[in-house]
Amino acid sequence: MTQATHTPASTRPTRPAGKPHGQWKIDGTEPLNANEAFKADDNGLNVRERIENVYAHGGFDSIEPDDLHGRFRWWGLYTQRKPGIDGGRTATLEPHELEDRYFMLRVRIDGGTLSTTQLRTIGEISRDFARDSADVTDRQNIQLHWIDVVDVPEIWRRLEAVGLDTTEACGDVPRVILGSPVAGIAKDELLDPTPVIAEIRERFIGDPELANLPRKFKTAISGHPSQDVVHEINDISLIAVNHPEFGPGYDLWVGGGLSTSARLAERLGAFVSPERAAEVWLGVVSIFRDYGYRRLRNKARLKYLMNDWGPVRFREVLENEYLGYALPDGPVPPKPTTPGDHVGIHEQKDGRYFIGASPNAGRLSGTLLLQLADLLESHGSTRLRTTPHQKLLALDIPAASVKAAAAELDALGLATAPSIFRRSAIACTGIEYCKLAIVDTKDTTIAAVAELEERFAAKTAVRLPAALSLHVNGCPNSCARIQTADIGLKGQLLPDGNGGMSPGFQVHLGGGLASSSREEAGLGRTVRGLKVTADELPNYIERVLENYSAGSTEGESFAT
Ligand code: SF4
Repeated sequence: MTQATHTPASTRPTRPAGKPHGQWKIDGTEPLNANEAFKADDNGLNVRERIENVYAHGGFDSIEPDDLHGRFRWWGLYTQRKPGIDGGRTATLEPHELEDRYFMLRVRIDGGTLSTTQLRTIGEISRDFARDSADVTDRQNIQLHWIDVVDVPEIWRRLEAVGLDTTEACGDVPRVILGSPVAGIAKDELLDPTPVIAEIRERFIGDPELANLPRKFKTAISGHPSQDVVHEINDISLIAVNHPEFGPGYDLWVGGGLSTSARLAERLGAFVSPERAAEVWLGVVSIFRDYGYRRLRNKARLKYLMNDWGPVRFREVLENEYLGYALPDGPVPPKPTTPGDHVGIHEQKDGRYFIGASPNAGRLSGTLLLQLADLLESHGSTRLRTTPHQKLLALDIPAASVKAAAAELDALGLATAPSIFRRSAIACTGIEYCKLAIVDTKDTTIAAVAELEERFAAKTAVRLPAALSLHVNGCPNSCARIQTADIGLKGQLLPDGNGGMSPGFQVHLGGGLASSSREEAGLGRTVRGLKVTADELPNYIERVLENYSAGSTEGESFAT
């Protein structure tokens, strides 16, 4: 077992009277629940050796339960949902009854940076081992499905041969680092975060000392003024700012997270120079490891500790116990004035162009990835990016062929000038593969977007807002960030009027982050009793937009 050094009881800070929260620094490292116990028994990273040497030979039935349901995640593997089980049975069946013998495999893409060689490799793996499945997630990863454990070593061999991996893509670990998709290429960039992302990635991802956190730990880093990494909902974010004395660096945010008890991150008011950024990141993740609440898993995210400590105490502990020096105060980054999804055609700082294209609700395929690699290379490009908005950016397109490249992306179904419906529609995995799902998300979203595009093409008198974010979740978790959307939909079953139940959604309205058209970031509110069936979704959105058109003035945002 490898984990952080045990703190003797005599040297621990004392806790006020009451039940222990399972904070290692205060309560000791004795596991207080089954999850903590399996993590203490054997570090999740160690399962790789068993996958390669035992399970890939013995097949699914040879996998030990703690590895199957726990440690596999440390290498990006989750069992997927058995096909044909409806959402009504999600809560009534035992977990193993919902579980298929195949896996979702998450390929970690820190900063969303991909070469066409890497893209082609993922496409080939999808074609050869994943039934042509591929989705881009809202954390810049690409997920494949239908993976058999016997194929995993070969998949890792192919990925690692081109510099990709699945290390800590899931699990109670530092997850993929969200990075500005225009890092190093945007004309108006304040700071290129690529070296900081690379340093964190190289020094700390796969480090056993950081591989037993209370729960997942999410990072976002951007040097672009559009603040394009949804920084308000990550555990730690570094957002570029120009300090009047020290020049460009980062503003430090801590403690954001959605799901249940959604909470926006808070600024610590501290300025972090690029040289110190990795060290500060290590300090914050170490606070989470040492002080994070481990007794109750639903209270184990950093946002709960931040909620109790507040930014002043958090900064004090960071500076005094972990860094050993005080960080300078820093200015507030200015509110973005351009959208952070980077859709459309934009000139790069080197005179070439990047094109932001929108897949439908994040859905791709292996075949499409291979076609995209061919398309990019035919225009002399070898680079692309994934984005935190389930989009793809084609980089380095010469001016002479940018229009042709955009037309070819459109022909592949990657819309470069999407409707407002498609542009900001995000859907989580949903019932197709997710064991927690209650309703379908991807197909429902794709169908609703197509229907709305058709209806509003004919309604030229209706004034649509410039942007409309539609985020669709298949259950009460918030993988698709419903609280931060103009219209957020939380999957649940609704009475169908005939004594049965049908798929539907609880509606959240009016959420948005700093990079949206809102004045300030804010979480949407659940509208009491406002629920809509999946079949009624286009009708509902049509009514909402007609009301907006009737009650708004030219240029007014939907959030207003
Ligand atoms: Fe699964 Fe729920 Fe997350 Fe969707 S929101 S991927 S249904 S856990």
